[in-house]
Amino acid sequence: MDDISEETFDEIKRLILLRKITICETCDNIFPYVTQKKICDECRKKRDDERRETKNRKAREYRKKNYERVRAIERRSIVKNREKRNARARARYHAKKEK
Ligand SMILES: [Zn+2]
Repeated sequence: MDDISEETFDEIKRLILLRKITICETCDNIFPYVTQKKICDECRKKRDDERRETKNRKAREYRKKNYERVRAIERRSIVKNREKRNARARARYHAKKEK
């Protein structure tokens, strides 16, 4: 945003006030105005990717640290859903056989 003239900047400000465009809060990209949208698509994607990565990393770390506890929960869930799992497996088996 440093190689633009004063007039261009005024025009940009005017368009922002008219809610025609928005300047990205993160990278100064200009994009068409959308209600509540404050950052551009690239920055949003980057932010979402980072959030997902952080979430996955934390989940991995938690699983490592609490392996027995996590396994116990998983085992409980397997027992609880045994009927469903078996029913699905049976359905798959029969579907295959009929072919
Ligand atoms: Zn941006």
